[in-house]
Amino acid sequence: MTETKKISRRVLIKNGGLALSVLALPFPLTTFLNFNEMTDSKDFDVIIVGGSYAGLSAAMSLGRALRNVLIIDSGLPCNRQTPHSHNFITQDGEKPSVIAEKAKNQVLKYDTVKFLTDLAINGTKTDKGFEISTQSGKLFSAKKLVFATGLKDSMLKIKGFSECWGITVIHCPYCHGYEVKNQKTGILANGYGAFHLARLIRNWTKDLTIFTNGKSELTQEQTDEIKRHNISIVEKEIASLNHKNGVVEEIVFSDNSSFELKAIYSRPPFEQHCKIPELLGCELTEQGLIKVDEFQKTTVDNIFACGDSTNPVRAVSYAVSTGNNTGVFLNNAMTEEEFLK
Ligand SMILES: Cc1cc2nc3c(=O)[nH]c(=O)nc-3n(C[C@H](O)[C@H](O)[C@H](O)COP(=O)(O)OP(=O)(O)OC[C@H]3O[C@@H](n4cnc5c(N)ncnc54)[C@H](O)[C@@H]3O)c2cc1C
Repeated sequence: MTETKKISRRVLIKNGGLALSVLALPFPLTTFLNFNEMTDSKDFDVIIVGGSYAGLSAAMSLGRALRNVLIIDSGLPCNRQTPHSHNFITQDGEKPSVIAEKAKNQVLKYDTVKFLTDLAINGTKTDKGFEISTQSGKLFSAKKLVFATGLKDSMLKIKGFSECWGITVIHCPYCHGYEVKNQKTGILANGYGAFHLARLIRNWTKDLTIFTNGKSELTQEQTDEIKRHNISIVEKEIASLNHKNGVVEEIVFSDNSSFELKAIYSRPPFEQHCKIPELLGCELTEQGLIKVDEFQKTTVDNIFACGDSTNPVRAVSYAVSTGNNTGVFLNNAMTEEEFLK
């Protein structure tokens, strides 16, 4: 078994070159590392880019299937600002980082799995498979790749929005709706998105107002339906969200009027967190997700993907499930290839 070390950035700095490269990265103060540059091979069966819930889950099935796996992770999961994660059985109400840390500890008990905190910056096809280079100047090769790199949410340009994101500005009622049930709640959206959210969120609270932040793009039919349920529509432009440590208190409009409330639902636009799959030719869906088949295979041979980057349902349970499936399907593909040789 390889010993898993959890070390502080200070210790990393003391350790010289590797630490200096880590300094350039936007990582939290502690980092996981069980890849030893001096002694470990840089050639793997599988490289998994992204070592959060989906990537760790894929690594567990692959590592247990005796595949040599390297996980490269830059430490920026999309839920990092949310204080508590919900609706994942056995971990309900746990801090997101605690769930990830528990998963890392379990996965890194397998000597088949190496973990490196670093940013993958490029990927190329080679005769034997692929090469991945990292921000700290390392180069790795593997027969197969898995991208579990998640999505990057683009924060709305409203003062206070990003500070409240994941705390009282909520993307999903299944994750956080129970905690703000029956509270005075806003829906910051327009058009069909606003209509859809209003229908859904009414289940958690009847005290609802839609904020379109400019002229409403709802159809007359949608507007009538919304008003029938006593949901008001406010079209004023929003200047800022007043909050204390992410706990929203009121929406302030450009005309200086304000609206007190306790929570806001919003689904800001997103993009792929990592552009390497596209660079390697992986197709995206219309929604901007990596296109995969029922075996988590992308449109490029030997590249698999899982988690949020491929899935319209954003939840830890889905990330874990698609990650685990990816490990199993990928190992099956490898065993078949090897058997036919
Ligand atoms: C604010 C918020 C709150 C949420 N709350 C809940 C909740 O309560 N319950 C729930 O079930 N779900 C919740 N979710 C959804 C859940 O967080 C995601 O479904 C889940 O994190 C997806 O896991 P993932 O592994 O696919 O991606 P992520 O967890 O986003 O991880 C992707 C990882 O890939 C890494 N990465 C990206 N590019 C690179 C690269 N080039 N090189 C190296 N590493 C890279 C990132 O640093 C990151 O660590 C929430 C989401 C948000 C945004």
